[in-house]
Amino acid sequence: MTPTFPVAPGQLFINGKGQDALSGETFEILNPATEAVITRCAKGDARDVDLAVAAARKAFEEGPWASMSATERGRFVHKIGELVLKHADEMAYLETIQTGKTISESRNIEIPMAADVFRYFAGWADKLHGETIPVRGNHFCYSLREPLGVVAAIPPWNFPLLLSTWKIAPALATGNVVILKPASQTPLTALRLAAICQEAGLPDGVFQVVTGPGGSVGMSLVRHAGVDKVAFTGETTTGQTVMRECANTIKKLSLELGGKSPNVVLGDADPEAAARGAQVGIFYNKGEVCAAGSRLLVEESIHDRVMETLIGRTKKLVPGDPLDPKTRLGPVASKDQLAKVMEYVESGKKEGAKLVAGGAPAKVGGGKGYFVEPTIFDGVQPSMRIAREEIFGPVLSVIAFKDLDDAIRKANETIYGLASAVWTRDVKKAHYVAKRLKAGTVWVNTYNIYDPAASFGGYKMSGFGRELGMHALEQYTEVKTVWVDLNL
Ligand code: NAP
Repeated sequence: MTPTFPVAPGQLFINGKGQDALSGETFEILNPATEAVITRCAKGDARDVDLAVAAARKAFEEGPWASMSATERGRFVHKIGELVLKHADEMAYLETIQTGKTISESRNIEIPMAADVFRYFAGWADKLHGETIPVRGNHFCYSLREPLGVVAAIPPWNFPLLLSTWKIAPALATGNVVILKPASQTPLTALRLAAICQEAGLPDGVFQVVTGPGGSVGMSLVRHAGVDKVAFTGETTTGQTVMRECANTIKKLSLELGGKSPNVVLGDADPEAAARGAQVGIFYNKGEVCAAGSRLLVEESIHDRVMETLIGRTKKLVPGDPLDPKTRLGPVASKDQLAKVMEYVESGKKEGAKLVAGGAPAKVGGGKGYFVEPTIFDGVQPSMRIAREEIFGPVLSVIAFKDLDDAIRKANETIYGLASAVWTRDVKKAHYVAKRLKAGTVWVNTYNIYDPAASFGGYKMSGFGRELGMHALEQYTEVKTVWVDLNL
């Protein structure tokens, strides 16, 4: 039995305190599995953002955070990770009821990883330093690595806590302060994290949460002259808007955007393993994964064997109550998302792809909730919409290829470049393909594996900048060069 927890109405978390929006307005948070209202949250706007930015600037310039040693800062970040684990049952419950992801995914994978992200970056806090530089003349030259200042973190709704930690943990570890604007559908774990930061004793203003619409709260943060950096994850089109707005203040920016990742199965691959990997690649978190292996590219010689196993496995994947620990597929995140997925299914049929599994909404329990059957289209042509556009749901497009070069050409035939995979028993082919795929991540004989130490991010229109790993630290620090004249 999954433990349940009461959910209080959500307030903004500004300068160490919960408070209502200045407008007094609120908005509903819905459970996609039941369509019931879970609670209401404060609907912030530009005036609330002004308050948060003022508190953040004070905390960054004057507060205890500004004078704290890096080691002490690291201890705080580590403690936040420990407290996320201490409250893991509650965090997992909140994540599941607001997103529809299964409790097994939230409790066993995502909440523990969120804790690990804090603990990983905590370790970096006192290991980052400048350098001495052997310059010309009689000068002593050294560099300092300094925090940027106020960071606005804007994550999407598919991994609300985890993708927030990818921004918050490196930002805090390097001495910045953070204002988090969670996606409107999924603010509950962000608000619970604010309480955890309070429990950890984090100084006021160092971590704040302003809930409310992207168009007002998000945009105000992006435009605000008091914000030094925007760390954004979301749709490519929203990313483009954010990037344009950041130009006005030349704000630092990292963008993690959409994907249409190729999962390439070569003729010599283990067909059972590849089918398993294809299933994990597209159906984890009901396909609402930026790195989902939504295009399965299969060499003609092995196509039938892979498809037989994959279809068999998919038919056993029955959508169900996401709070049931045995469920492996929950509802998609919203009514809009369900409509979007069904529109793509229709487009796939119209354009002549062959529907070999699913293709319809699924009825679970009393018939409420945004459930979709796991869906597979075979015989997909690269020109079809279902092969080109990000569906962000449990829909797989299978494309056949003839040989290695055909596979690489088709895999790279996309505006995106977030992730990719290749399945083969031939080590030379594995590295040959890994080198040629234009994507920030290449998995070989596996899919959807992450670690706080391994950097993640996009090529092409999937964005720029890297999260996780040591490269994330560059996104939150400036390098200052200091010259000292030593001539006597
Ligand atoms: P989205 O609509 O772009 O929203 C992302 C975030 O931006 C939300 O917090 C949203 O707030 C906010 N926002 C919306 N308009 C804004 C604006 N004009 N200015 C500032 N902020 C604004 O994306 P989504 O639908 O939540 O997420 C799905 C997308 O995220 C997919 O395309 C997926 O591929 C991508 N994604 C990428 C990665 C990656 O690492 N590359 C990871 C996960 C997801 P509201 O919720 O209030 O609108």
